[in-house]
Amino acid sequence: MKAAVIPEVNGTWEIREVPTPRPGAADVLIRVEASGLCSNDVLATKGILPFPSVDPAIPGHEPVGRIVEVGSAVTSRRVGERVGTTWIRGTCGHCEHCQREQPLSARSAFLCAEPVSTGFTVQGGHAEYIVVAAEQTVLIPEGLAPELAAPILCAGYTSWSALRAAQPQPGERVAVLGIGSLGHLAVQFAHVSGFETIAITSSPDKHAVCRELGADLVVSDGAQLREAGGADVVLVTGNSYRAAADALQGLRPGGRLVLAGIDTGDVFTIPPTHPFFGLGQRILGATHNGTQYLREALDLVAAGRVTPLVETFAAEQIADAVDRVGKGEVRFHAVVTY
Ligand SMILES: [Zn+2]
Ligand SMILES: [Zn+2]
Repeated sequence: MKAAVIPEVNGTWEIREVPTPRPGAADVLIRVEASGLCSNDVLATKGILPFPSVDPAIPGHEPVGRIVEVGSAVTSRRVGERVGTTWIRGTCGHCEHCQREQPLSARSAFLCAEPVSTGFTVQGGHAEYIVVAAEQTVLIPEGLAPELAAPILCAGYTSWSALRAAQPQPGERVAVLGIGSLGHLAVQFAHVSGFETIAITSSPDKHAVCRELGADLVVSDGAQLREAGGADVVLVTGNSYRAAADALQGLRPGGRLVLAGIDTGDVFTIPPTHPFFGLGQRILGATHNGTQYLREALDLVAAGRVTPLVETFAAEQIADAVDRVGKGEVRFHAVVTY
């Protein structure tokens, strides 16, 4: 089969012919239709996040496709069903974390001694086929195009988990900092959930699209957010902790700032001038907080209430796609078809 392979740290992704994987008794074989390109794949390519330990290094943790074969012990999935899988698929079952019987979420990736992670410890989704244990698949709602489902498996899952983690209450205002792969979905999620939604972006060229996505207001920084009345929730979906700290200026008393993006080069610091204690504010972390949130996000997309804006690339264009994601040029999520 054809698969995208990262030849080495800082290498250029290339399409190679590799053996097609075979499903075991508990597995399904998926013919991948679309696979999202997460910016974390680019960070892993550069070695900023751990380089995939699977050999060959076939990345990708947003694959969607049809089941073409099921293992002999599989009862929960059938040939022909459209499914996807996510970044964190399983745990070792024996370490200290696993002994607490935690539900599967991204926490496992950080706390389990030997987590199974798509495109990192096992083959990823940038390939014509992928083998996944049946129980590690999620059903994609029928009628939802694979190109639109793929970005939800990581980016949308993260954005929606971030909003849910903040537990916004009726009448509260939600701001989204950083309008990119995660942020353009977060704006839509907040808007369709009925919250007055504010987009915070330093890019003037994104103002118009923010309003199209459902933002009631667009501001450029924390000071402007404060002048506009502030927000009860700030979802930090960009990759700048400096910008996140700046946004605290516009966080209302009792407000929650949710860190959902990764800044690999800076620390998050509460500015000494900001009366964080007195205002009873909270800083939360969120990413893939449990598969029920993935289901909710997929359903919103299937219902046509939220629509990922994607740029679709053919497999042969993979190097170009990775380059554009790395430069932040994609509006707003790259999806590769196989
Ligand atoms: Zn991702
Ligand atoms: Zn474990």
